[in-house]
Amino acid sequence: MADFDTDLFVIGGGSGGVRAARIAANHGARVMLAEEYRMGGTCVIRGCVPKKLLVYASRFAHEFEDAAGYGWTVPETSFDWAKLIANKDREIARLEAAYTANLTRSNVSIVKSRAVLEDAHTVHLLADGRRIRAKTILIATGGWPSMGNGIAGIEHVISSNEALDLKELPKRILIQGGGYIAVEFACVFAGLGSQVTLVYRGENILRGFDDDVRSHLRKEMEARGIRILCKRIVEAIERVDHGLCVELSDHEDILVDKVMFATGRRPNVKGLGLEAAGVKLDEKGAIAVDGYSRTNVPHIYAVGDVTDRINLTPVAIREGHAFADTVFGGKDIRVDHADVPTAVFSDPEVGTIGLTEMQAREQYHRVDIYKTTFRPMKTVFVGSERRTLMKIIVDGLTDRVLGCHIVGPDAGEMIQVLGIAIKMGATKADFDATMAVHPTAAEELVTMRTVTETHVRAAAE
Ligand SMILES: Cc1cc2nc3c(=O)[nH]c(=O)nc-3n(C[C@H](O)[C@H](O)[C@H](O)COP(=O)(O)OP(=O)(O)OC[C@H]3O[C@@H](n4cnc5c(N)ncnc54)[C@H](O)[C@@H]3O)c2cc1C
Repeated sequence: MADFDTDLFVIGGGSGGVRAARIAANHGARVMLAEEYRMGGTCVIRGCVPKKLLVYASRFAHEFEDAAGYGWTVPETSFDWAKLIANKDREIARLEAAYTANLTRSNVSIVKSRAVLEDAHTVHLLADGRRIRAKTILIATGGWPSMGNGIAGIEHVISSNEALDLKELPKRILIQGGGYIAVEFACVFAGLGSQVTLVYRGENILRGFDDDVRSHLRKEMEARGIRILCKRIVEAIERVDHGLCVELSDHEDILVDKVMFATGRRPNVKGLGLEAAGVKLDEKGAIAVDGYSRTNVPHIYAVGDVTDRINLTPVAIREGHAFADTVFGGKDIRVDHADVPTAVFSDPEVGTIGLTEMQAREQYHRVDIYKTTFRPMKTVFVGSERRTLMKIIVDGLTDRVLGCHIVGPDAGEMIQVLGIAIKMGATKADFDATMAVHPTAAEELVTMRTVTETHVRAAAE
């Protein structure tokens, strides 16, 4: 249409925006995409990828310890943080270039600029002042760390963004937060040799996860030397001679070198011009969308963390893809947000899908629980006390598996595959009919035969 400079303007070059731009362009749309920082967004630049590289690095400590029991002589080991960060940066630059090349190959026009909406069809590019008229607009601006209400000394606090780029490994670090990012960074720093304190205001870490997962992981993390202080918050931070003095709400003072807050993330909507475009937010401050990721303005869509549905990379990608297929590919695709498998890359790892025990007990009349904890073959051999937890939650009336929760090595890999079975509606009988792969840890998932607990809901009053 002559009126418009482009068919689609995408704001944000992260997981959701990049996928949507590429698929829309492949469907024949003229597409422009603005990214104000680096192509690839949170996942590639300051999220999943750099974090997982640090996770890998941190796990070598156990490998070296365990190797001795298997007959290896491991000379004294040492760790070079600066080298790890430099290598991580090189890998991220490679991925960023690959993202850019893929978009360019698909004929997406990339603009390195902050983009702001001026009205429902006009995008203002702050880098060069251009104004682009777009027929359809996709907002994929992601999220940003929320540092809570200002406390004394907040200027000393880093978020996960800075934690991935520290000049040196802190000898002592205090992390506030109980979600997956807090837990993962606590394990990374502990694995690399830092003394770690985790402070969380709630009852226990990983709110929203199955209670057995929470208590099992906490115990395992504590066994690895991480100090976990729940029902407390950081009240103030003061720079002192030998570091930062952190005052907790129970009046304990803790001396550390770094303080990191991982206290949640907010949708990135500030200064985006949403009011000018007439786009509404929901009560949590996220862009409100329907099942097709469409906002209240019919030609403006939003995907990924800025909509605060399930804030994970594969979800943002799926939402971006579904948007492009629906609006430019003549298909009709809503994203199914049920039964999303997910992992916490803590040490030990968590893999989870479906309902927690408490959710199942609230929603189903009779719930059967199958649960086991065991010392895996690989580490029991070297005398380790580390334990794996596996838990399957079953609808006692239909036999359908409602949820599965694993804490142990490779839990993320296991839950990805198990996700297919759960998504297909597998029953416990299907699990039982599956032959075990021996000897593995995962075989426990198909060999748990005895119900450990049954919960029958009392009749409704
Ligand atoms: C530390 C950390 C670890 C994580 N680990 C995992 C994990 O292991 N697995 C997982 O699935 N998920 C993980 N996530 C979550 C995952 O990174 C996000 O869910 C995902 O990146 C969301 O994609 P998105 O497209 O919505 O936004 P983003 O990837 O955040 O991309 C948004 C982009 O928009 C740009 N932008 C914002 N405003 C503007 C503007 N006005 N103009 C131009 N550009 C703009 C930003 O610079 C950014 O590049 C992690 C997140 C963090 C912070």
